[in-house]
Amino acid sequence: MIRKITSIVSCIQKANDILVVGHIMPDGDCISSVVSLSMGLEKFGKKVTPAIDWKIPANFTVFPWIDRIKDFSNDVVEPNLIIIVDASSPDRIGRFEQLLRKGIPSVVIDHHATNTYFADDCWVDPSYSSAAQMVLDLLKLMDVEYDADLALMNYIGIATDTGFFRYSNVDSSVFEAAAELVRLGADPTFVATSILETRKIEELFLERDAIDNIKMLSNGRFAYSYLELEDFEKYSLTEDDFVGFVGDLRSIKSVEVALFASEASKGEAHVSLRSKSYFDVSKIAVAFGGGGHQKASGFTLRYDGNLEDALAETIEMIDSQLQQKEKH
Ligand code: 5GP
Ligand code: MN
Ligand code: MN
Repeated sequence: MIRKITSIVSCIQKANDILVVGHIMPDGDCISSVVSLSMGLEKFGKKVTPAIDWKIPANFTVFPWIDRIKDFSNDVVEPNLIIIVDASSPDRIGRFEQLLRKGIPSVVIDHHATNTYFADDCWVDPSYSSAAQMVLDLLKLMDVEYDADLALMNYIGIATDTGFFRYSNVDSSVFEAAAELVRLGADPTFVATSILETRKIEELFLERDAIDNIKMLSNGRFAYSYLELEDFEKYSLTEDDFVGFVGDLRSIKSVEVALFASEASKGEAHVSLRSKSYFDVSKIAVAFGGGGHQKASGFTLRYDGNLEDALAETIEMIDSQLQQKEKH
């Protein structure tokens, strides 16, 4: 693996103008990896543009460099190198996909097992908790000096992608990386409160609607729920304002698989999948054109008619696979 990182470093050394791109519907790991890698590359002497083709969630605007993130409409100048972080396939980077088709040299740094190796050079390692933890190893190898802002931005992705140090991707290396970043100036309480304790009251009202829609299958081992566009509109919220509910579904004691779908626009929903111990939800996500990790995956569902009907095929697939597993 060190050979792979070394080849990424030599791609970086050759380029002057680098575009660092994250995925659409950005989460903490995406924003953290884009910003911390960009900060580090600037310290390394490069001209860098951090880029995400999506609105950045409001609770992240308290962090440094967030206002430097460009979306595609900002007339991004064509770089000599594109580095894509935390994205498993080209459809995940929004309109920046167009630049890949122009033959600009590209690198992927990612930890998704479902990665499709869509750049010239790909460093993909699912044993990492987060893309941000990969960024830390890369910047350390490049001898980049950390200040408190860089440490903070790099810490965010490790904290968020591990569910604040709870998920099965936590191992001793995660605590070592986090401890190192805290020593360098990252403030864990500031990160946790900024991300977890900034909810609007309307999000709790919406949660009440999502709870009303919960259904249990497979003898309580499968929980699912959904929200339709009208539910979000009722409280002037969008699906980006309501994340994490799928984790609450999984937190039910009997549950092995949780599914939560949010209708982003009429006929289009984002489906989030989670499992607790033995079920590989990434296989379900891939079957519907998405991807992710064994215990956290997602895909976009497009349909005519209503969301609950459109979900029937996915729900049936999960339910029958769970019944099968019970028999064995
Ligand atoms: P979430 O359910 O939080 O949106 O996503 C869970 C995991 O699945 C994340 O690691 C995310 O990158 C991945 N994921 C979510 N939606 C998609 C999708 O539409 N396509 C792919 N390839 N991965 C997705
Ligand atoms: Mn992500
Ligand atoms: Mn990630």
